[in-house]
Amino acid sequence: MNVFSHPEFDNHEQLSFFCDPESGLKAIVAVHNTSRGPALGGCRMFPYATDEEALRDVLRLSRGMTYKSALANLDLGGGKSVIIGDPRKHKTEALMEAMGRSLEKLGGQYIAAEDSGTSVADLKVMGRHTRHIAGIAARTGFDGKPSNGDPSPATAYGTFIGLKAAVRHRLGRDDLRGLKVAIQGVGNVGFRLARHLKEAGAELWVYDIHADNMQRAVDELGATPASATDILLLPVDVIAPCAMGAVLNDTSIPQIRASLVAGAANNLLEQPHHDALLKERGILYAPDFAINAGGIIDVFYERTGATPETVRAHVETIGDTLTEIFRRSDQSGLPTGAIANQLAEERFHKHTAGAGLAPQRLARAG
Ligand code: NAD
Repeated sequence: MNVFSHPEFDNHEQLSFFCDPESGLKAIVAVHNTSRGPALGGCRMFPYATDEEALRDVLRLSRGMTYKSALANLDLGGGKSVIIGDPRKHKTEALMEAMGRSLEKLGGQYIAAEDSGTSVADLKVMGRHTRHIAGIAARTGFDGKPSNGDPSPATAYGTFIGLKAAVRHRLGRDDLRGLKVAIQGVGNVGFRLARHLKEAGAELWVYDIHADNMQRAVDELGATPASATDILLLPVDVIAPCAMGAVLNDTSIPQIRASLVAGAANNLLEQPHHDALLKERGILYAPDFAINAGGIIDVFYERTGATPETVRAHVETIGDTLTEIFRRSDQSGLPTGAIANQLAEERFHKHTAGAGLAPQRLARAG
C-alpha cells in the first residue's frame, strides 16, 4: 500500500495508524493541514472492504476538511479519522475507548467529531480518555432547540440553504413548492434535509440501503421510495446525495437528468475531472465542501462559544458563498468545484502556521 506516493496523499502533514487487538480497533487518523488551526473533522466508522479503501477515504475526507473550514472562514485545519468496521455489528464501548486513547496520543493536533457511523454517545465514550473530541456539548442549538452537540441538524440546515441558493441561481425561483428532489441516504443529515424540503413544499424521492430509514421518510414525510440504481437518475430538478462519496462519476453523470446537484455527502466527485463533466452537461453542482459546512461551523462555535443567532447567521453564509461560486463559475467558464477550491486555497495558503487558534484553546475543558 503506497502512502507518500498515494494519489490522494496531497502533502498531508501527518498520518497515524492505530491498532488495538483486544477491542478490534483498526483506525487511521489523517491530518492534512493545520495552517489555520488544529485539524477538526469527523470520525467515520465503515466496513471498508480493504485497508486501501479506508486509506483513500480518510485522505480524501481529511483534505476536504481543510478546504471546507477555510471556505467557511473558520480558524481550523483539516483532518479526519476512519474506523474500519461495521457500526451495526462491530461497535463496542471497548472499541470506542481504544479510539479515545489513540486520539489522546495525537495531543490535540486532531479533534474528532461525529460522522457517518458514529454518534454523540460514541464520542462521549472516546471522551473518557481524551479531551480532543467535539460535537458533544448539550446547549441551545442554532435553531433555538435543545442540541446534544450533534452537528447533523446544522449540516442539514446549511445544505437546505445551499440547495435554495442553487435553485435560485439555476431555476430563478425562491419558492420550493413542487420542486422535485431525490435524496440518496436518509440518515442523520439526509432525513433532516428531507424534512426542511417537505416543509418548504418540495416533492421527495428517497433511497437508503437501510429499509427502516427509507420507510421513516416514506411514512413521516410522504416521500416516494426509489431504488438503488434509480435514485440519482430520476427525472427530478435536484439530486441530493447524502450517503457516501464518489457517486458523481463516469457512469452516473451521463445519465443524470436533474439540473442541480446539492447534497451533503463528502467527496461526491469520484475524480477531479467530473467537476468539468457536470458543467459540460449543464448540471449545476454545489460543491460538497461548500454546501455541507453547517456541521463544522456548529462544532467550531461549540468550542469557542457563541449565541445560537451567531451560529445560525454563519451557517446561512453558505448560501452567499455558493452564490459567489456560481457567479464566478459563470463569469470564468470554470466548473464550480474548481472555483470553490481556488477560494479555499486563497484562504488557507494566506495563513501562516500558528495564525489560527491554538489546539489548547479549542480543546474541551476538563
Ligand atoms: P448517517 O450514517 O447518519 O446517514 C447516512 C445514510 O446513508 C444512512 O441512512 C445509510 O444507511 C445510508 N447509506 C449508506 N450507503 C448508502 C448507499 N449506497 N445508498 C443509499 N443510502 C446509503 O450519516 P450522516 O451523518 O447523515 O452523513 C451523511 C453524509 O454527509 C456522509 O457522507 C457524511 O460524511 C456527510 N456529512 C455529514 C455531516 C454531519 O454533520 N453529520 C457533516 C458534513 C458531511
